[in-house]
Amino acid sequence: MSNTPLKIVVVGHVDHGKSTLVGRLLHETGALPEGKVEYLKEVCDKRGMPFEWAFVMDALQAERDQGITIDTSQLRFHTGNRPVLIIDAPGHKEFLKNMITGAASAEAAVLVIDAHEGVQEQSRRHGYLLHLLGLTQIAVAVNKMDLVDWSEARFKEVEAEIRAYLGGIGVTPTHVVPVSARGGDNINAVSEKSAWYKGPSVIGALDGFAAAAVATDLALRLPVQDVYKFDSRRIISGRIESGRIKVGDRLTFSPSGKSARVASIEGWAGSDITVLSAGAGQSVGVTLDEPIFVERGQVAHLAEAAPALAHEIRARVFWLGRDPLALGDRLKLKLATAEYHVEVAAIEKVIDVEDLGSHQGAQVGRNAVAELVFRSRGAMAFDTFGDNARLGRFVLVHGYDIVGGGIVGAAMDNRNIFH
Ligand code: GDP
Repeated sequence: MSNTPLKIVVVGHVDHGKSTLVGRLLHETGALPEGKVEYLKEVCDKRGMPFEWAFVMDALQAERDQGITIDTSQLRFHTGNRPVLIIDAPGHKEFLKNMITGAASAEAAVLVIDAHEGVQEQSRRHGYLLHLLGLTQIAVAVNKMDLVDWSEARFKEVEAEIRAYLGGIGVTPTHVVPVSARGGDNINAVSEKSAWYKGPSVIGALDGFAAAAVATDLALRLPVQDVYKFDSRRIISGRIESGRIKVGDRLTFSPSGKSARVASIEGWAGSDITVLSAGAGQSVGVTLDEPIFVERGQVAHLAEAAPALAHEIRARVFWLGRDPLALGDRLKLKLATAEYHVEVAAIEKVIDVEDLGSHQGAQVGRNAVAELVFRSRGAMAFDTFGDNARLGRFVLVHGYDIVGGGIVGAAMDNRNIFH
């Protein structure tokens, strides 16, 4: 039993049954307000239309819009073993953007695929995006098994197809589960209709996921959020993204290279509670033993485990901008608390998310993935995504719009850095 909610996203091609599955998950685990389903069924009856599980989501959304109940971008249920938080309901316009900005920092995902239609464009695109964001715990729900008469042969076909695609990007799904979201089969209880299937239900698969790894084992990264002045003291505030910090540590701030020792650590900026050490996930206020100049965007770390420092980074980018991205384009690259003004110095390859083929291209279209080189006038401090995801992912901003996101790769000559 764990009390920390497992954060998941439910993705997949339009109409493959994401909302239905979410409605079912909430229903089967008793997470819906009492009488909600009965009420919706009654309304449908009166209007002479068939009931849809997706209406549950719509109803919750409508109530949310009226300010009545919960936020549908944060749906909760309990598997019996652990709480689960579905972040960002499918169908949200901002879904991909939210995933990229990491606002939705999911630990696991359920990829829904229609058994009848098989793997489609968005199944691949979403699968790719999960991989790009470093999500490796993916369960696949092969939905609408009722439409294919619970055919084991058809299930095996779809399973092979999605395994081949995910395998191509280095992802092994934890489970591939045959389900009927509409019928409620293999959602919570294992269904008799799939006697040939020996694996867990969707809920069972969720129970098997590991919680997010604690980042205290990684090198210290404390991106500076703000610097406050209290009396004669300066308090540097920020959230420890990874590692630990303790009083007496000598901190280096990158990219500036300035350094000083930690004089005190406060639970939060300006409070009277001081601690001797703090770790990943905590927000702290730090005072230093020397009056060095520190500003937002710098990253505090220990000298012996420094982030990389460079004017150019090679990155894999998911482009969401309305206009294609081209060589020479200027953007703001936000990485942790830093904002760097960058220019597209090279478009190395554009990746076709459909067949994973790549080609040389002068432009990156909307919803495409590409490997790029960004150049900044000043040095940028970062980690490769593989070393430390918290300092290895970024968001691209043009004006006030988020136009893409990506992860930082390693050396320019290593072709397999992203896998
Ligand atoms: P989404 O766009 O992925 O959220 O898909 P929805 O959940 O809205 O479902 C799209 C359509 O597929 C709806 O008409 C559902 O009733 C239908 N559907 C969903 N799950 C099943 C299922 O298990 N079996 C059948 N036959 N239809 C389903």
